Amino acid sequence: MSKFLKVKCACGNEQNIFSNASLPVSCLVCNTQLTQSSGSRVRVLEGKAKVLEVL
Ligand SMILES: [Zn+2]
Repeated sequence: MSKFLKVKCACGNEQNIFSNASLPVSCLVCNTQLTQSSGSRVRVLEGKAKVLEVL
């Protein structure tokens, strides 16, 4: 089951990402890579982004 994660980038931007995105997700503002895909799940890169909420 797919979910949305609300993540906050180190630059302050908040955006929603798919928890099962198969491609890395970058911040829409500063273009920093926020996640890495491991298998079918997304791993939020520590120090780059923080999960605020699971939607
Ligand atoms: Zn950013």
